[in-house]
Amino acid sequence: MVSEDDWRIRRQGDYLKGKTFYFHEFAQWSDTWDHEHCEFCWRSFSDQDGDEHNGYSTLDDFTWVCPQCFNDFKDVYSFNLLSESTFSGKTVLDVLRKEIGQFQNEDLYRYERMINLLKKMLEADMNSRPMSLTPVLIQTLPMSDEEPIIEMHDQLAIRLESGEPNKVLQTITELSKNDSLISEANDKQMMLYIKIADEM
Ligand SMILES: [Zn+2]
Repeated sequence: MVSEDDWRIRRQGDYLKGKTFYFHEFAQWSDTWDHEHCEFCWRSFSDQDGDEHNGYSTLDDFTWVCPQCFNDFKDVYSFNLLSESTFSGKTVLDVLRKEIGQFQNEDLYRYERMINLLKKMLEADMNSRPMSLTPVLIQTLPMSDEEPIIEMHDQLAIRLESGEPNKVLQTITELSKNDSLISEANDKQMMLYIKIADEM
């Protein structure tokens, strides 16, 4: 049991409660992104000697928790472990809403996080629903009281008759390589998000 005033507790419950994790080896994302920290005790994960090499992460590979902290907090925050039945009967949108933080409580998600998540779902037995995917460029401004700039690119919206994970993954990957979209994002220092809508 951990006590309520454990030094590792901040506000993790706000964004991690009930999330699904899986155990795996740390893999470097890029030259500039070569390590992660445990969300609780701040221990490092990397390829380096002395750091943790394996741990639990959320399905988008975004938040890492070391084995010690996972054991200490899994009941406190109702963490799930990924299994074959985790996604049974769910749709892609159900899983995104549960496992990845939305932008401003709308169904807008960072594309890299979606790609990481969808790769874990390719073999899952899920419900399929028609859906649409619309690329959205978002710029969050440094002053927290300023409204973000949000540009919907409806002309690039894609409707999928069957919202199966592999189709969704393929579509998002293609959008993330769209030259005009990416050069516009780079010019304006905006980030690519994807808006998901049910189309029943
Ligand atoms: Zn830890």
